[in-house]
Amino acid sequence: MSSEAAGEPAARGRIVVISGPSGAGKSSVIRRLLERDPRYWLSVSLTTRARRPGELDGRDYHFVDRATFERLREQGKLLEWAEVHGELYGTPREPLERAVAEGRIALLDIDVQGAEQIRHSGIEADYVFIAPPSLEELERRLRARGTENAASLARRLAHAREEMAAQDRYDVVIINDDLDRAAERLDRWLRTEESA
Ligand code: ADP
Ligand code: 5GP
Repeated sequence: MSSEAAGEPAARGRIVVISGPSGAGKSSVIRRLLERDPRYWLSVSLTTRARRPGELDGRDYHFVDRATFERLREQGKLLEWAEVHGELYGTPREPLERAVAEGRIALLDIDVQGAEQIRHSGIEADYVFIAPPSLEELERRLRARGTENAASLARRLAHAREEMAAQDRYDVVIINDDLDRAAERLDRWLRTEESA
C-alpha cells in the first residue's frame, strides 16, 4: 500500500531553478526531464512577450498583456518577476506551492535576476545553470530556432555574456553539448542531491 493510500500526506517536493542564456537549451532539457518521470513538473510563467509559432498558451507560458501582468504582480500572485529582453516574466505563486505540496519536483525556467530573488527569499531550492558549449554555438542555435527577429537576436546574444558570468552562483553547471547526455546528467545530479 502506498503511503498516500494509507492516509499519510505525500512527501514534500522541491524547487529546481534553471537558468542559462536564451538558446542554451533550457526548454529542450526540461522537456526531456518531463518525459522521463511524472514527478517532474514545469512551472508555467506569465509573460508579456508575443507567442512564438508552435507555443501554446497555458503550456509554454501564460501570455498576458502588461496591464494584466502588473495587476497580478500588485496582488502578490507572483513569487518572483523580472524584465528580460524588454518583456516582463514572472512565476505564479499558487500552482508552484500546490505542486511542491503534492511532492513534485518543480522546474523553474527563469533568468538570473529571478534566481537571485528566490535565493534572497529564503525559499529552499537547487540552482542549475544550463550553458551552451560556446557562444558561437549559442548563436547558431538561436538562428536555427528561427524564432527571433534581428533586434531580438542581437539583444539575446548581447545579454548572454552577462548571464554566463552568473554561472558561479549556481550549484551545478550542465553544458548542453548533446541534448540526451545533458538531460541524463541533470536527472542524475538531481537524484543524487535528493538522496544526499
Ligand atoms: P532555451 O530554452 O534555453 O532558450 P531551447 O531549448 O529553445 O533553448 O533551444 C534552443 C535551440 O537549440 C532549439 O532550436 C533547440 O532545438 C536547439 N537545441 C537544444 N539543445 C541542443 C543541442 N544539445 N544540440 C543542438 N541543438 C540544440
Ligand atoms: P524566452 O523569451 O526565450 O522564452 O525567455 C527569455 C528569458 O526569460 C529566459 O532567460 C527565461 O529563463 C526567462 N524567464 C522565463 N520565465 C521567467 C519567469 O517567470 N521569471 C523570470 N525571472 N525569468 C523568466
